[in-house]
Amino acid sequence: MLNLILMGLPGAGKGTQAERIVDTYHIPHISTGDMFRSAIEKQTTLGIKAKSYMDQGALVPDEITNGIVKERLAETDTKVGFLLDGFPRTLGQAQALESILKELHKSIDAVIDIHVEESVLIERLAGRFICRTCGATYHKVNHLPKVEGTCDRCGGHEFYQREDDKPETVKNRLSVNIESSAPILAFYENQSLLKKIDGNRDIENVFQDVKGIVDIKK
Ligand SMILES: [Zn+2]
Repeated sequence: MLNLILMGLPGAGKGTQAERIVDTYHIPHISTGDMFRSAIEKQTTLGIKAKSYMDQGALVPDEITNGIVKERLAETDTKVGFLLDGFPRTLGQAQALESILKELHKSIDAVIDIHVEESVLIERLAGRFICRTCGATYHKVNHLPKVEGTCDRCGGHEFYQREDDKPETVKNRLSVNIESSAPILAFYENQSLLKKIDGNRDIENVFQDVKGIVDIKK
């Protein structure tokens, strides 16, 4: 059994590492989004409740989210383990997860945090810009037009950034995430479960570190 939690800020490459982990270790990938979608699709009591909040654009209360997590973790495919991704998102959820796992006679083996400095994340996330004429997208770091200031596709010279991609917006989004994840990271650090990995390297190197941690726990 291999029970893992994967943490990482937006832009840290968590999604890519999650894919590698579930492919290599054959454990189910349990992401909050998938869990909600499946509960709503199956029309479970909790799924119906969650949907009524989401339809109003409201946050789903922890009580319901935790219930959905519990139902998912009780399914038989988690006998071999699981990779939790996107949960817990608050300290309250982390504490609830502990009691859920206790009831299910399970425990966490490791919490892997893919760590990348905020400044690097801002560079990664705020680099996107778009051609005003044809909508082609570029990136300041890894996808510049072949000729500076000229769109590869249409030859246009005017570019803009979407509100979501602007450095200030990105910075705010990251700050909110950093603030909410700090107590969770501390919570697992106290239990000696937290394994921090330097995510500012290529995918393969990051994954080698993940393997180094996981192979001991297996
Ligand atoms: Zn263009």
